[in-house]
Amino acid sequence: MIPMMNSQLTITSLMKHAEQINGAVEVVSVTADNPRHRYTYRDAFARVRQLANALSAIGLEQGDTVATFAWNDYRHLEIYYAVSCSGMVCHTINPRLFPEQIEYIVNHGRDKWIFVDLTMVPLLESLHHVMPEVKGFVVMTDQAHMPDTSLPNAHCYEALIAEHTAEFEWPDLDENTPSALCYTSGTTGNPKGVMYTHRSTLLHCYASIAPDVFGLSVTDVALPIVPMFHVNGWGLVYSAPMTGAKLVMPGPKMGCGETLCTLINEEKITVSAGVPTVWLALLDYLKKSGSTIESLNRLTVGGAACPFVIYDDFRTKYGVDVQQGWGMTEMNPLGTFNGNAPETVSALPADQYDKMRLKQGRPVFGVEMKIVDADNKALPWDGISAGAVKVRGPWIINEYYNYDGQTLDDDGWFETGDVACIDEYGYMQITDRVKDVIKSGGEWISSIELENCAVNHPKVAEAAVVGMPHPTWSERPLLLVILQEGESLTREEMLGWFEGKVAKWWIPEECLFVDTLPHTATGKLSKKDIRAQYADFSWPS
Ligand code: ADP
Repeated sequence: MIPMMNSQLTITSLMKHAEQINGAVEVVSVTADNPRHRYTYRDAFARVRQLANALSAIGLEQGDTVATFAWNDYRHLEIYYAVSCSGMVCHTINPRLFPEQIEYIVNHGRDKWIFVDLTMVPLLESLHHVMPEVKGFVVMTDQAHMPDTSLPNAHCYEALIAEHTAEFEWPDLDENTPSALCYTSGTTGNPKGVMYTHRSTLLHCYASIAPDVFGLSVTDVALPIVPMFHVNGWGLVYSAPMTGAKLVMPGPKMGCGETLCTLINEEKITVSAGVPTVWLALLDYLKKSGSTIESLNRLTVGGAACPFVIYDDFRTKYGVDVQQGWGMTEMNPLGTFNGNAPETVSALPADQYDKMRLKQGRPVFGVEMKIVDADNKALPWDGISAGAVKVRGPWIINEYYNYDGQTLDDDGWFETGDVACIDEYGYMQITDRVKDVIKSGGEWISSIELENCAVNHPKVAEAAVVGMPHPTWSERPLLLVILQEGESLTREEMLGWFEGKVAKWWIPEECLFVDTLPHTATGKLSKKDIRAQYADFSWPS
């Protein structure tokens, strides 16, 4: 007999709590058919029950997978809850993936029905013929905006749910029931599916709202700018209703600095989260328009390293504390967080404090972490030794969905693919990806550090560094640079820029000026493509 109740950690329990306790709190969205839709959590969850009835009516059953091609808005929120709480799997798909990746993951995920935003109907019209298992499509709009579409068996979202009542008996689910599916963008090989469970989602949610993480409260107004197709929008669509924070969603306007600024000021946003690109877009708009963002007191940067300009400009010019999160699809995504600092760190001189705040942060409780060398030997946390980052914990992947290969190492740890050092205070700093680190003469050179150094040159717009085979050193760094428009630089000037800024033996062996660099569908530099493109490169003698 277990001495305490073994209540199941389900999203259904979160939803019921949110409806009862935080029912009057507002949810505000921008959608393709409405510039500002607003209702309450209570309204939302009533519609979630109508949708759950509709899901059964169109023949969906527990265990089925339902896909979404959608931005952050209230209808997407309703689908999240109706699908997962019905015991089905909500498969969120990144519309920016390449068509062949979309085809692969819809079929591999065995998606039965697809919910699609108005703006993405043309994308699916061009792809539905390669999705033989999909039985029908629901366009996320009302009758007035329903397009004339060539999608087979297409329904209008509002018409579909209008046919059903808001009475629904939720099934009792085991906490390990799969709830959502998200594929990694697959920089090597096919995309791999990460299946979240009700339990992993809830535990991640508890961890993320802690004061030293998002610190989410009933007094907050949250604006998740990270897409809901990217690791469940970092969980904010669960943690906001759980805490009673008002939720504001920017729909298709995610990258628009003006919309973000308007939403922040009109809805009194206090906290937000997104990748560096959206913060650069907002900073640019603020600078050009002279606007301010008084209500915003903190924001989280994640998905990629936080550039100094984001950290510094928001803090000094707009009074916003910039916090950083590190994680990945396989981690739900939270791994480390850099927010409030312990006294040992906050008492450091300003320049050292800033350096600490730009690191990826400390592991949150629930994430066990180690860094290892090439022989899988744990390295010291001295802030210098860099090794492969391995993690384990209750919201970390155990097994990729329907996958033949091995997901964990022989000791049950997940290897993240990142290389980092960890300092005495527990702050982790990413120095590279395992596959991108440059192995020169038995030592590791960080390609990311060299790229950061290069882009700090005022004439450089973008830079990439890859390790290329070298007869003496095994690999040496090759620097590729795109210059700012109208600027010019010589090879010697560019390479000279590194002197005194990095160790002498780190300085790139050669520099090439290029017009473009290849990127992945999620906007990251594609080192794999760069290496392929320069396969015939040879070092100057
Ligand atoms: P994918 O692996 O498909 O590109 P993810 O969103 O899962 O997509 O990306 C996770 C990776 O992004 C991490 O392994 C890490 O390399 C990088 N990343 C995430 N957050 C940060 C951060 N704060 N700083 C540096 N890199 C980050």
